[in-house]
Amino acid sequence: MAKAALAIHGGAGTILRSEMTKELEREYRSGLQTALDAGWSILTAGGSALDAVEASVIELENFPLFNAGRGAVFTNDGRNELDASIMDGSLLKAGAVALVRNIKNPIKLARLVMERTEHILLAGEGANRFAEEMNVEFADDSYFFTEHRYKQLLLAREDNAVRLDHSSGVPVGNPKSKIGTVGAVACDANGNLVAATSTGGMTNKKFGRIGDTPIIGSGTYADNQACAVSCTGHGEYFMLGSTAFDVAARMRYKGLSLAEAASETIARLTEIGGDGGFIAVDQLGNLSLVFNSDGMYRGTISSDGSSIDIYGS
Ligand code: ASP
Repeated sequence: MAKAALAIHGGAGTILRSEMTKELEREYRSGLQTALDAGWSILTAGGSALDAVEASVIELENFPLFNAGRGAVFTNDGRNELDASIMDGSLLKAGAVALVRNIKNPIKLARLVMERTEHILLAGEGANRFAEEMNVEFADDSYFFTEHRYKQLLLAREDNAVRLDHSSGVPVGNPKSKIGTVGAVACDANGNLVAATSTGGMTNKKFGRIGDTPIIGSGTYADNQACAVSCTGHGEYFMLGSTAFDVAARMRYKGLSLAEAASETIARLTEIGGDGGFIAVDQLGNLSLVFNSDGMYRGTISSDGSSIDIYGS
């Protein structure tokens, strides 16, 4: 029997102790803990990695401080356009949605795309129509409105800049910028690997911009023969690096361990100018959480114990 393991993230970036209040840190930790518990209770009851990652990501989407679902950042015209994807490594099947609006939990919709359609990625109005057909829960604009995100938009608009989450005064590309997005990867007792990722994208994004999160192979990937990966960071670079697939490819083609593949992939991301990180799990339940930013909201749990961390080393 394989060893069950779960990892989650709530975004990577410049997360400095000096800028964090005790109160805020407590809130972030409790958001991560709730998400870990939701997934782990499914795995320990003999449930599937698919149900576990979905449950964890739903909790992260419902938590207002992370850039996904409820806490999503604003587009240039003051809307929330959400991207999400999920991939099942046992079947090599995936589902994703992009630019959806007013969907309370985009990860549920991504799973429905995987399970109920012959497609992988649905976008915009069509994806919203599919959501209506599937009777998923919608939420008003007011549900997605958070004061701090709106302030971020006003600042970004003033400077005519497109920004990563939390990066109030910092332009994209600046290593000091912070990054959002949420994700989970799991290995269940049957050795099945699944990855899921969800995001609001980038503050002040325009023209129907879609990042790496709903792109299979860039922001999310899972293959039982290698690993499951969920990414967060400046999406354009994860698309250029096919980052999530890159970890799996290094394991399959080069015979590397998960840790070796993760370390080579983050080095490659740095080389091409990308900022962020990812979480990954293999069939033995090994976990790798790597990032080239100052920190990453993250948590892991397995029979070896659990941990939650925010900062870099
Ligand atoms: N990767 C996401 C995107 O580019 C952003 C993030 O991770 O915060 O849309």
